[in-house]
Amino acid sequence: MLKIGCHLSSAKGFLAMGKTAASIGADTFQFFTRNPRGTKAKAIREEDVEAFRKFAGENSITPVLAHAPYILNAASADEGLRSLAAETMADDLKRMEYLPGNFYNFHPGCHVGQGTEAGIVWISGMLNKILKPKQHTVMLLETMAGKGSEIGGRFEELREILDRVELSDHVGVCLDTCHVWDGGYDIAGHLDQVVWEFDRVIGLDRLKAIHLNDSQNPLGAKKDRHARIGEGHIGFEALARVVRHPALRQLPFYLETPNELDGYAREIAMMREAWEQ
Ligand code: FE
Ligand code: FE
Ligand code: ZN
Repeated sequence: MLKIGCHLSSAKGFLAMGKTAASIGADTFQFFTRNPRGTKAKAIREEDVEAFRKFAGENSITPVLAHAPYILNAASADEGLRSLAAETMADDLKRMEYLPGNFYNFHPGCHVGQGTEAGIVWISGMLNKILKPKQHTVMLLETMAGKGSEIGGRFEELREILDRVELSDHVGVCLDTCHVWDGGYDIAGHLDQVVWEFDRVIGLDRLKAIHLNDSQNPLGAKKDRHARIGEGHIGFEALARVVRHPALRQLPFYLETPNELDGYAREIAMMREAWEQ
């Protein structure tokens, strides 16, 4: 069966997210570990985690994808901002140990004028500082649209980060369909070539999750504005081919489309139907 879910609010805890996921036909979900624009985290309630674990087991809701606050910038020129990113992500990883075996996705960062190479050194340096040999969470580098000075708009940049990480077994990649499209990878016209290119540069064994979004902008626009499935420039048929692709169909998919729960429920049903064909 297709593994699919969407981004959910974590305000009411894990059990509430699990129940919401089940109520919209999802069997996985993504959530922010803390306020996406801030860094304050709520205390983890062990009863909530326990209840969620039971519910998730009964409803096969797994794996879940935690998303780091996108305000963090591990590639910043400012040492204080780099430390904030490292400390926040290290703390998130520690909290993720309450739910072993899941994923923690983050935006690699923006080099803000220092150049891509310098940014890559900062990002891999942070990973070398916070990854632990015995952790039970795989950290995922998200493919980015290449907006401004974002690192991760090219597969080669993610490869370079991975090459510099010592415990790189704990690092994978999350491919965002809107971002790669905006970055110039034509998943609508040439999906096989893009998948092949990903495999050649990064390796498909590193690909652990997919953010499934349409894009408000044309190929290569470098904008990063998500659209609902079928309402953007990628289109429904192309995204259906993504979920059905033999190299991708076993992966978990996460919608980050501009929707309320009923819209997510519709898109999940649409993609499940497309996957069966
Ligand atoms: Fe993201
Ligand atoms: Fe994304
Ligand atoms: Zn995005």
